Parts: sequence; C-alpha cells; structure tokens
Amino acid sequence: MLKPRAAIVALDAYQSPIADRAGLNLDLNENTAGCSDRVLARLRALNKSDVAMYPDRTAGERAVADYLGVPHDSVLLTNGIDDGLLLLSAAYLGEGDEMLLADPTFVMYPIYGRATGAQVVRITPAEDLAFPVGEVLARIAPRTRLITIANPNNPTGTVVPQEALLHVVKAAPDAAVLVDEAYFEFGGETLLPQLPSHPNLFVARTFSKAYGLAGLRLGVLAGAPEQIECLRRFCSPFNVNAVALACLKDALADQEFVRDCVAQIKQGRARLIAMCEELGLRVWPSYANFVLVRVGQRHREFVDVMARRGFAIRDVSANPGCAGCVRITVGTRSQVDNLLLAMRAAVEQIRS
Ligand code: PMP
Repeated sequence: MLKPRAAIVALDAYQSPIADRAGLNLDLNENTAGCSDRVLARLRALNKSDVAMYPDRTAGERAVADYLGVPHDSVLLTNGIDDGLLLLSAAYLGEGDEMLLADPTFVMYPIYGRATGAQVVRITPAEDLAFPVGEVLARIAPRTRLITIANPNNPTGTVVPQEALLHVVKAAPDAAVLVDEAYFEFGGETLLPQLPSHPNLFVARTFSKAYGLAGLRLGVLAGAPEQIECLRRFCSPFNVNAVALACLKDALADQEFVRDCVAQIKQGRARLIAMCEELGLRVWPSYANFVLVRVGQRHREFVDVMARRGFAIRDVSANPGCAGCVRITVGTRSQVDNLLLAMRAAVEQIRS
C-alpha cells in the first residue's frame, strides 16, 4: 500500500479553522475593514488575458523590495507567509535536524517542521508567556537548523525586544532564524535593517493582515541574497498568482488605507484591553490586531455565547500556556463598539 513518509503519517489530521464560521469573523486576525478601494478597482478592471497567462513575480518583487528599502535580490514573494515557511523548512530541515521554537506561537511552524522529519524542540512557556530568550539560547545546538519567532507573536500579541532577537540570531549562525513580522504594521518594530549584517536572518511580511488581502495570498520573505537564491532554485516560479500580483502596486500605493485601519485597530485594541481589565480578566499587552484574553474554565461556553451574539472568536485554550484563553481580532470602530457590548453580556452570562 502507498504510504507517505513516516513524518507525514505522524502529523495530526488537518482541521479547518474556518469550516463553520458565522457572524463577524474575529477569529483569524484578518482585516475586517476589507481591502483598499484601489485594490478592488484593480480587481474589477482585470481582463481575460490577465488571468490566462502565467504570472511573473519580478516586477512585484522589485516594488516590494523598494518599498521595504532592501536590495532586489534579497526578496522573494510567496503565496502567503505559509508558503515561505514551507520553503524554509524544506531548505534547512531534514531527518536528524532540529527546529526550535518557544510556545505558544503560530501553530503552523511545528507542522511544517515536523513534515520534514526534523525534530521540533518546543520551549514550555512561563506563566506570563514572555519570550524565554535565555532558554532559547540554551537550547541552540549544532543540530538546530531553523528557529522561528513571530514578532509580534501569535496568539499572545506580545513582542520580543530587538536585542533578544539579535542575540538568538548571533548565537545560531548555522541555523536559519525567521523573524515573522506578519503583524508588523500594528506594532512598528522591524529587524529588516539588520539583514545585511546577519546572513542567517530572514524576515517575513504579509499582505494578509493590515492590507486586508488574506484571500489573495501574498507574502514576502527577505533574507541574505545567497540564501534567497537557493530558495528560488526549488520554489515554484508561479507561486504567487496573477491576481495578487496585479493588485500589489495599488496595495502598496494606498498607504492611507493601511494607516487608517491601523489607527482604528490600535484604538479598538486599547478599548478592548481596558474593558477586559475592568471586568477582571487577564489580558496581554498587544502589538498586533488581536488580543489574548483569559476567560477561564468556561472558555468554550464563552466562545459559543459570543457566536450566538454574532461574533466568531478563537478558542486558543489548547495552545501551550493558554488554558482558558480566547483570541479576539480587533475590528473597525463600530465593530468594536458592538463587540464590547456583546463581551460584557457574555462575561456576565458565563459568570452567572
Ligand atoms: N505568521 C503568523 C504569525 C500568523 O499569525 C499568520 C496568519 N495567521 C501567518 C504567518 C500566515 O500568514 P499568511 O496569510 O501570509 O500565510
């Protein structure tokens, strides 16, 4: 009988996080304001040959590199950051290698890592869920070939100080260190300027969050030109679709849209955190477009009550260190108004 590699068979069955979504989607950290009108106009103006022809990434890559202020040959466009993660895993991991990460973090990292046959070394979180830089440094070994750090982190929303990140990068010269900046726009700190001095550093960005293009699938992987060149050797030449590429320049040009969304989200985030504190719920400081809240033992009921009130939120209590926690995406001003009302009522309901 045909059998996939043992590393694949050993993976858990895939469960779609969006199979039965209903109400306002505050469960996957998308942009609930949608996307820029300029992008929508571009989509509507596409013609038959725009979609009939294979896409060419080159111009888009140059535009992104210029926007980020990095050399053209240090950028690879990907089919979302997910695609970049697959590429990094395939390039640097194999049987006998180790991938290192600190829990809780983005759930796809260990899946891609394990799929290669590598061992995934996961550091158990402390109570405050802060990035355990000392433990990460202590676990770096000759076999460590990939270290993934989301900054801001998902599901916590917290950030790692830049010096701590650089410490890790310097301590593991034989490992690829990915600093995943999917939520950069909501926090504002980046390690991009460090790329030229650290040949093992990669920085990822995405158009899925602040730009509101999660459905188009457009990500960015930046790294040392010689590493990016190796990834290109086996990356699909057509990994980014023509529609996404057609919209890219308009998405970058409409920074007003991004600024407005980010401003609303930052305000909403502060209001959501303040209300959680007022209700006596443990909440983490967030530099992303979502907030992690500990609602306690009745987390499942809380998620159900919120769903009945029209809000899909994410139960993340199965993540290490996140018992009793939910993750809530921050939407627009009026969405947050309604969310806060629903949350107050839902908290009262599970407490009664
Ligand atoms: N990295 C992190 C930290 C994320 O939270 C997500 C999406 N939830 C991704 C990467 C995936 O982004 P993309 O849509 O670009 O594949």
